Amino acid sequence: MTYRSRPAITELLLCIALTICTGCRILPSAGQAPPKLHHYFGNTHSHTSFSDGKGTPAELIELAQKTGLDFYAITDHALTKYPGYTPANYEFTRHEADRLTTSRFVVIPGFEYSENDGPGAKGHANVLNAASTLNATGPNCDYPRFFDWLTHDQPQPVVASFNHAGPATYNAWDFGTDLRPDNVALFEIINSGKPREPGFYTALDHGWRVAPVAAMDNHGPWRITEADYRTGVLAPELTRDALIQAMLDRHVYATWGKNLRVTCFVNGVLTGAVLPKTDSLDWTISVQDPDTDVPTDRITHIKILGPQGVVVTEHDFDKHSVHWKTQTPADLPCYFVTVYTADKTDAPTAYSSPVWLK
Ligand SMILES: [Zn+2]
Ligand SMILES: [Zn+2]
Repeated sequence: MTYRSRPAITELLLCIALTICTGCRILPSAGQAPPKLHHYFGNTHSHTSFSDGKGTPAELIELAQKTGLDFYAITDHALTKYPGYTPANYEFTRHEADRLTTSRFVVIPGFEYSENDGPGAKGHANVLNAASTLNATGPNCDYPRFFDWLTHDQPQPVVASFNHAGPATYNAWDFGTDLRPDNVALFEIINSGKPREPGFYTALDHGWRVAPVAAMDNHGPWRITEADYRTGVLAPELTRDALIQAMLDRHVYATWGKNLRVTCFVNGVLTGAVLPKTDSLDWTISVQDPDTDVPTDRITHIKILGPQGVVVTEHDFDKHSVHWKTQTPADLPCYFVTVYTADKTDAPTAYSSPVWLK
């Protein structure tokens, strides 16, 4: 799903909406109701005592809610070597996720497909919204089997992420080219406080259409209260279904700042989209940090990047709210945006979802 718009009116409305509320209003094609998108912030990756973490699902979920996250995913290792990891306990996690989801806070049950070491690639991946789990160390289980399971074995939409990956992970990404499921849509460009840019660039180079997310990968209550990095999701409402659909659409971004809002339109659609071939790209990039009393939260610089992080264009700013319109060529396979803030100059504070050209 993409949100199409008439550029001039859309950008005006976007500007107004971003000024007066936390979301953005986008005009779709004639005849469609305008969806109003909001920014939701959360964590896509955590473990409990059901695998190698500490604490119950409820303890971690309640702490995440108290901390002010909008959503929180429980993703225990799906490995039978952990006595607590049983089908019954996964059902219990799903039940707790339903019980503790409210109109203001969403819990997403899932699992981490980990410790797989078969010839079909080595590396970890999360599955969010899964109805059941897949043991990565089970018989005949490798990445082709995992991709087949993702595509055919789940009764509801699920979304998967590549976890804490580098250029050499997943057999140096030398796998799955023909299998590449659409629901592998996310890449942990931030995991447990570490950036993972080289792995992200490698995934893009290998043709994966994945969007950057930030994962705490906490194995207990720690990080929930201390970590400021978040996955931002642009969705019309705070429900599990809406968040999963937004992740599948790659309407997400990764940010080291807990409430930095990043909205990027290219030729009238949100980044995350795959665009038909075109000569140029018209960008409308909106970034806001609501902490206007914190000088170090000022937005200082924005870059539009291509594969391997090559800089296509960039601009300086010095404000808490930026609305930048610019144009670039469309001769690279994909583009994405990085945002810098005054608290650090050596690395981005946020990474947008890429836009791809067919
Ligand atoms: Zn892992
Ligand atoms: Zn993990």
